[in-house]
Amino acid sequence: MTLAGQVAVVTGASRGIGRATAIALARAGAKVVVNYCSQEEAAQEVVSFIKEKGGEALALKADVSAKEDAQALIEGTLAAFGRVDILVNNAGITRDNLLLRMRHEDWEAVLRTNLTGVFFCCQAALKPMFRQRCGRIINIASVVGLMGNAGQANYAAAKAGLIGFTKSLAKEVASWGILVNAVAPGFITTDMTEKLGEEVRRSFLERIPLGRPGQPEEVAEVVVFLASPASRYITGQVIVVDGGLTM
Ligand code: NAP
Repeated sequence: MTLAGQVAVVTGASRGIGRATAIALARAGAKVVVNYCSQEEAAQEVVSFIKEKGGEALALKADVSAKEDAQALIEGTLAAFGRVDILVNNAGITRDNLLLRMRHEDWEAVLRTNLTGVFFCCQAALKPMFRQRCGRIINIASVVGLMGNAGQANYAAAKAGLIGFTKSLAKEVASWGILVNAVAPGFITTDMTEKLGEEVRRSFLERIPLGRPGQPEEVAEVVVFLASPASRYITGQVIVVDGGLTM
């Protein structure tokens, strides 16, 4: 129980990587806020699962792309558990299209959720972390932010931006004992990749040296490591979890 007594907020924890991360952090002993945007039932199922295993968790609705919601998410966490030690910025969306066909609203929606949402959540969570003089922020980026991907210029821009954001914030807050890192998953089996066409899925899988997609739990375990004392000398890094796709 390396995270006993700690409080974690995981954005977008109703499904996929966020769900697996919330469960893994709870298993390591953290009290977990399971944030969701639209799928309350799924979020409550994650909370029930954690509680059945003896952990503590609470579901909080917040659209991270809205500043007041992000603020309310952190305030709700403080009201319930009294502190914020770990913030996992996981909430994310895709609105794929080739650039010439990409609608302005799809560009804006992806940037606003995947990048501006992280800015809002970090600003809100940093206040209690400064008071505590410790904290861990873990941003879920993507290999697409490192290598690009045709049809995902909006998503790649947001994720590449998130990597620059991670390194800059890591430099700003290191002297306060706050560590900021990113995890860049490759092709992970979730709702997000389920909706890709069969051809795109096959082309990704052919390029993965380990020969299979990753599972959400395989990303979650790296997040737990970055939240734990074992990673206390690591900040400003991007840990790639991609079965060798980008090597
Ligand atoms: P997913 O299964 O589609 O789940 C997305 C989660 O984000 C859901 O819990 C959803 O909440 C939440 N969400 C979406 N918009 C939100 C908003 N405005 N405010 C709060 N929550 C919001 O996605 P996933 O595959 O697990 O991806 C999780 C993260 O990993 C994303 O940042 C994604 O870019 C990144 N990633 C995924 C892969 C992959 O292969 N799957 C690869 C690289 C990076 P509701 O259920 O309430 O709608």
